[in-house]
Amino acid sequence: MNRTRLAPSPTGALHLGNARTFLLTWLWARARGAEVVMRVEDLDGPRVKRGAVEEALEDLRWLGLDWDGEVLFQSPRAAVYEDALARLRAAGRVYPCVCTRQEIEAAASAPNEGDEGPPYPGTCRGRFASADDAERATGRTPAWRFRVDEAARAFDDGVLGLVTRDLARDGGDFVVAKKTGEAAYQLAVVVDDAAQGVTDVIRGDDLVPSTPRQLLLFEALGLPAPRFAHLPLVRGEDGRRLAKRHGDTRLSHYRALGVRPERVVGLLAAWSGLGARAAVAARDLVGDFDLARLPRGDVTFHAADDRWLLGAG
Ligand code: GLU
Repeated sequence: MNRTRLAPSPTGALHLGNARTFLLTWLWARARGAEVVMRVEDLDGPRVKRGAVEEALEDLRWLGLDWDGEVLFQSPRAAVYEDALARLRAAGRVYPCVCTRQEIEAAASAPNEGDEGPPYPGTCRGRFASADDAERATGRTPAWRFRVDEAARAFDDGVLGLVTRDLARDGGDFVVAKKTGEAAYQLAVVVDDAAQGVTDVIRGDDLVPSTPRQLLLFEALGLPAPRFAHLPLVRGEDGRRLAKRHGDTRLSHYRALGVRPERVVGLLAAWSGLGARAAVAARDLVGDFDLARLPRGDVTFHAADDRWLLGAG
């Protein structure tokens, strides 16, 4: 049985860009009789907004999406992530790191403008025998970093085809647990995709640089890796990723104004090459939906799209 997942982060409200990714993921699953599981990525404590979990789930239901089984929340799973970290530690794949973000940036002599800032220069690699040693020597509680020994990693992407990434340029050794002991996104997502039996990850292409790291973690933990497909993002007219600066495109905003979900789905569908801009229910798009037929380029949100949603276009 194929299985994908919807994995909203309740750090902000769902907007048209997230909604499009979730709709396409759901269509992919429903068109091929695959399961869809729901995971709430609520690990980033300080950034999780009150009520955002309920709102995200409610927005997705309103859009006409559903999922199979219980919702998995990450926040109560600290012990599971700690266990995975212990295995990585025992296998010598991670090391304690006391660098602060500023130091990491300052230490990169020729900052390489990658997608996620300069690569980690490896300052703490092989520096401490243990977390206690790191703490004794520096007075700081260490984070844990995964040691990336490979130069590059290729994977076959369901939308992009063969993707090859330079692991050093994409950040090098990466953090798997913060100094608070909390699992970082990269570790939690791998542990949970395996725990939820996810065979196919479909998500925005802003996460392409994370995929090679996640593949390394699946291997290091002896877990089966899913297939990956990355979808082009929705951008504003300025070419930047859709965000507040482009106006209020939250689903909750349109809901509050009385916009019908079929209209929102109709816009997302038109953006995705699934027909002309017209109101349509998500379930009526399932048919023979195929990611392979998705237009390749990024999608641009225009002011006219907003007017159309509001019934004025
Ligand atoms: N929770 C992440 C996000 O909202 C998605 C992570 C993933 O799909 O791997 O960006």
